[in-house]
Amino acid sequence: MTQKRMTKQRKTILDILKSRKDHPTASELYLEVREKIPHVSLGTIYRNLNVLTDSGEVQEININNKFKRYDGNPRQHYHFNCLECKRVFDLNGSYQEDLDTMISEKNPHQISGHNADFFGTCSQCLEKT
Ligand SMILES: [Zn+2]
Ligand SMILES: [Zn+2]
Repeated sequence: MTQKRMTKQRKTILDILKSRKDHPTASELYLEVREKIPHVSLGTIYRNLNVLTDSGEVQEININNKFKRYDGNPRQHYHFNCLECKRVFDLNGSYQEDLDTMISEKNPHQISGHNADFFGTCSQCLEKT
């Protein structure tokens, strides 16, 4: 496999991730990448996701410890987890740096960030009921 080909695959994966707002798992992403690159393997998807995560272009998120999901938005933001349809949404509202400071002052550890997962029923599931 040439370097050029790797780059093309990586770019395709990144483009798809950035265009999706549903925080897909690697397998969900694989289905879409395969439409563009027919002979791609799931292993290739994982390998590229690791590279993209290491370089900070993609975030790995882990909600309910089930499957790892991938987020094309590398900035710190909060997530909402719908308990009905199990989808993960980005939330409006800014990341609370004050919380890091507040917790830092009370603990001996060096804090570089935090995650907060909100959960409940999403607007679409609410409409159904
Ligand atoms: Zn829902
Ligand atoms: Zn997100």
